[in-house]
Amino acid sequence: MKAEIVSIGTELLLGEIVDTNASYIASRLPALGIDLYYMHQVGDNLDRLLEVYHRALERSDLILSTGGLGPTEDDLTREVVARALGEEMSIDPQLERELRQFFGQRALNMPENNLKQAMLIPSARSIPNPVGTAPGWWAEKDGNIIVAMPGPPRELHQMWENQVAPELRKRSDGGILVSRTFKITGISEGGVDEMCGDLKKSANPTVGVYAKPDGIHVRIAAKARDEQKAAALLDPVEARIRDTFANNLWGTDDETMQAHVGKLLTDRGLTLATMESCTGGLLASTITDVPGSSTYFRGGLVTYATDVKAAHGVDPQLIEKHGVISEEVAAAMALAARTELGADIGIGITGVAGPSEQEGKPVGTVFVTVDHKSKRHSHTGKYPGGRIDIKNRIVATTLFQVRRLLLELDGIETSNWRR
Ligand code: ATP
Repeated sequence: MKAEIVSIGTELLLGEIVDTNASYIASRLPALGIDLYYMHQVGDNLDRLLEVYHRALERSDLILSTGGLGPTEDDLTREVVARALGEEMSIDPQLERELRQFFGQRALNMPENNLKQAMLIPSARSIPNPVGTAPGWWAEKDGNIIVAMPGPPRELHQMWENQVAPELRKRSDGGILVSRTFKITGISEGGVDEMCGDLKKSANPTVGVYAKPDGIHVRIAAKARDEQKAAALLDPVEARIRDTFANNLWGTDDETMQAHVGKLLTDRGLTLATMESCTGGLLASTITDVPGSSTYFRGGLVTYATDVKAAHGVDPQLIEKHGVISEEVAAAMALAARTELGADIGIGITGVAGPSEQEGKPVGTVFVTVDHKSKRHSHTGKYPGGRIDIKNRIVATTLFQVRRLLLELDGIETSNWRR
């Protein structure tokens, strides 16, 4: 089945919003065995939308659109689909009842404009939207399918997961593409590529290497008739990858480093505390993104000002002697976090997030220490980018350093790892 995605909305063309809906849908089509040929972004303009729909109907089997289903004048999707299929719209009594009920339950008066959302054409049925007022449309005519879904991502995701994807799965005739991603740290992109060796030459599954903020990803993707056949192709390659990268491989697919580190800490019954300066609490926030982090995270201090660092146990003379942006101060912060907050492992972060240099140290300079009573890791980095990029990089590096220390406590050698 050949598909095109149409993201509708002038906001997209003005650069006011990023088209996450298209990437959401695109990332889910391979597993359904649907080939995506084109993606469009079109403003709220009837003629241009019609042009895109006419062309897509000629060359593709499936059009998946998001946006333009609201009640206002510039919400044109229903009208475009009706015109493209040469049909007249009329109000569907059942949809009208449901819409009035939606407003009634919230004690709101329904503006008459909203009646637009109860329109249908003979070739279309509505797709319920339990989290919004705009139902979707599933239209089918002359071998073409048009699925119109709402723009707000939360509404789209619910509709896709619960209604659209299951229906498309039933209809898809071709093979499916199943992929698995393996996340690696401590080895450079080139190093990972080299270590993949002849795996890179395989045509099915294909093997790709990508540099990402949380390390290097190796993605393997197999084309097959069904999940089972895909798994048979992927399993031996996965075994090779696991064997090759051993302890450098820390996660798969949607796993995050913070969740992985949380699991390592939980398994070992260890706790963590942080003292952050330039990251302003981002590390603590990231750690606590993980449900259940209260079992291992004792707490975090944001000691932004120098006197606040001193008030929380960092020796002012040490700051005087080495400067606040220094390995010594990061180490003292980690120790203070560990002792003040009663944790097994303390983390100290000090650096220059920019935009100006500090103490003669350039923007992007960072010192991170991870401190356990029997082992300490100190890391010095220099990162490019703006404040937000630098803060994110520091947090990623720090989590990597925590993992490294935990493995070393288990007796695993990591001294030749790079970061
Ligand atoms: P509504 O009932 O809210 O009017 P709609 O289906 O008409 O829904 P739009 O009005 O086109 O959708 O978009 C509503 C909001 O949804 C946008 O302001 C934007 O925040 C989000 N949105 C729309 N399209 C996209 C997209 N392609 N990617 C990400 N977000 C989007």
